[in-house]
Amino acid sequence: MDQIRIRGLRVYAGHGVFEEERKLGQSFFVDAVLDTRLREAGEKDDLKLSTDYGAVCERITQVMTEENCRLIEAAAERTARELLLSFPAVESLELTIHKPQAPIPLPFEDVAVCIRRGWHTAYVALGSNLGDREAFLKLGVDGVNAHPLCRVEETAPVYATTPYGGVEQGEFLNTVMRVRTLLEPEPLLDLLQSLEQKAGRERKVHWGPRTLDLDLLFYEDRILTTPRLIVPHPDMENRDFVLKPLCDIAPGLVHPVSRRPVITLLRKLEKDGEVHVEAGVKSV
Ligand code: ATP
Ligand code: CA
Ligand code: CA
Repeated sequence: MDQIRIRGLRVYAGHGVFEEERKLGQSFFVDAVLDTRLREAGEKDDLKLSTDYGAVCERITQVMTEENCRLIEAAAERTARELLLSFPAVESLELTIHKPQAPIPLPFEDVAVCIRRGWHTAYVALGSNLGDREAFLKLGVDGVNAHPLCRVEETAPVYATTPYGGVEQGEFLNTVMRVRTLLEPEPLLDLLQSLEQKAGRERKVHWGPRTLDLDLLFYEDRILTTPRLIVPHPDMENRDFVLKPLCDIAPGLVHPVSRRPVITLLRKLEKDGEVHVEAGVKSV
């Protein structure tokens, strides 16, 4: 991707473990490499279509000076997050904070931390078959969107579906949303589970009735297995009520394990007659 590069922005600030550092301050130097698309701005010669590097420098200075951190790691983390939130055309960035006057009692030229941070794309499945089902799906979408580090970019149509997994229970409403997020997978799962709690979810029967179920389907093309989280969601290819809304918003998405497009997985289920979706209802 194209880049905007800033090198050696001097910021006088009070980051440090020692009292004097926090009181007196010292010079830090910041480098930022911003990954962003520049073609349109270049072709049309229009600043509005690019990211204003002057504004980026001002924001770095503001974030670096408004709060003192003990570690430059923490200052870098805060600054990277605020830049990604303030300049939405920046997809990812590399941020380096140099501290050439760090209190090291030996001759040295420079010490620095360098981090890479960026937006991630995740797909989340939503399901409800208890109570006011539309309202619970909306709670899921709005709850994710209200998190400061998440944006819901698109939601699929809602489908009425017959239950899956053999438990006798009411009909489901299902849909899928695409989320742009700065959260890593586990914190994203924490958010999803807190919203299930907010919807009054009780886990009594496995695959039983629920007010709100939020499953993380994909997180970029990462393959993860932790005690709490398996990504991609392992049973996805057997569920047309997940694949159908997913294909509405991302038919070309490729499953990183089977390496097949999700539309191919859906066609296979439909061919085999493994169909739970009854009708499209409406949008969330
Ligand atoms: P299924 O996961 O087969 O759709 P379910 O949604 O009914 O079943 P839950 O009771 O909601 O299952 O979740 C059980 C556990 O699954 C959760 O506590 C969570 O830690 C774990 N889990 C593992 N991978 C995922 C994932 N990709 N998305 C959501 N939860 C996951
Ligand atoms: Ca589920
Ligand atoms: Ca679940």
